[in-house]
Amino acid sequence: MTEEEVVARLGFAVGDYFGGCPECGKQDSILNIWSSHWAVCREHKNKWCIGANLFSCWREEDEFIWRQNWETLRECVEVKSVPPTDPTCYASSDCYERAMADALRLSAERRRLALSVVALRA
Ligand SMILES: [Zn+2]
Repeated sequence: MTEEEVVARLGFAVGDYFGGCPECGKQDSILNIWSSHWAVCREHKNKWCIGANLFSCWREEDEFIWRQNWETLRECVEVKSVPPTDPTCYASSDCYERAMADALRLSAERRRLALSVVALRA
């Protein structure tokens, strides 16, 4: 599976190492709550946790900032992000194939569910 095939089937590329929004592939920012790091797509109001204490920036923040971050995060739905579509982000082609197969399966499932919702509303 090539990157071009994956991008064509997903409908977008994911350039960020920490993954992208399942609806558009983008990530606007990373917000911390204490030492937990959350990636956000503000347009689609999606969030996904990328880990804890990976970056030291949280140590320079305080409860005021974390409260502001929480106000953004509470408006978002927690989702499974789409991993980067660039094969050079992976240790091997097998790892890439597995990650992309999973991402494409979830993408197809998401589209099928969206079509079901449209059919139910009609
Ligand atoms: Zn998005």
